[in-house]
Amino acid sequence: MALDIVRTVAEMRQRAAAARSRGLTIALVPTMGALHEGHLSLAKAARKDSKAGYVVMSIFVNPAQFGPQEDFERYPRDLAGDVQKAESEGVDLVFAPSVEEMYDRDDATFVEVGGTLTRGLCAPFRPGHFRGVATVVAKLFNIVQPDRAYFGEKDYQQLQVIKRMARDLRMPVEVVGVPTVREADGLAMSSRNAHLSQEERKAALVLNEALMAARRMAQQGDRDAHAIIAEIRRKVEAEALVRLQYVEVCDAATLEPLERLQGRAVIALAAAVGTTRLIDNVIVEGG
Ligand code: AMP
Repeated sequence: MALDIVRTVAEMRQRAAAARSRGLTIALVPTMGALHEGHLSLAKAARKDSKAGYVVMSIFVNPAQFGPQEDFERYPRDLAGDVQKAESEGVDLVFAPSVEEMYDRDDATFVEVGGTLTRGLCAPFRPGHFRGVATVVAKLFNIVQPDRAYFGEKDYQQLQVIKRMARDLRMPVEVVGVPTVREADGLAMSSRNAHLSQEERKAALVLNEALMAARRMAQQGDRDAHAIIAEIRRKVEAEALVRLQYVEVCDAATLEPLERLQGRAVIALAAAVGTTRLIDNVIVEGG
């Protein structure tokens, strides 16, 4: 069966209602398109969990989550290629609305997830970003009304923010996290990798390598977050093309910074490689 492409909120609601009336559960995979294996692993997980259910993938480059100096205009877009890839993963419908379908000019309602989740990591470097993410995902949840929604651990802070939004607002959706998919050499897949020159692409490998070194330290019993951060900084700073924006060791659930590794922790970083901003993280068990 060929995949459906829907452009309007009204038609999306009709399709979702029709699926529900056939007794199907609905899974949603929100993306900004320029699909790679990372996105497709979310679609695979959705398809697997849904069995006969209805799998919707949204493709929407959300202006509200980009800052004025960020890359909204140059963000890669390839709807035709994306639709083919989505279809090959068994996605039933692609929802690709225009900005006008998703936002009115005078929109005055936004979703703000406060507390520790949005204090550190990317939040201070991208003011308004998580508000933009939470708002668009809330809109998508209202339009599609999925039973389950799939997000990547690659964007670890985003995953926690969405989980908290769904919990706090009593949204009837299960938010499912999916492990990060990497290139064979370890680079975390990202639509933004397309912007990297060959040299930058090679330099960017240091991010995963530094995180792997940090994980080894943790596995060998090092509990000192400062020592782990220092080791990551040392490694990344040796790479001239990469400028570290932050590296933090946080509790994996609350995202509060840790002095000492304890329980499940996330080591997360962001860096500029040329003009491209990349993020990556690793989860470690601190015992
Ligand atoms: P984006 O299109 O970048 O907004 O990403 C859409 C979804 O795909 C988000 O939930 C991301 O966390 C997820 N995603 C992006 N890259 C990866 C990756 N390399 N592995 C797993 N999930 C990813």
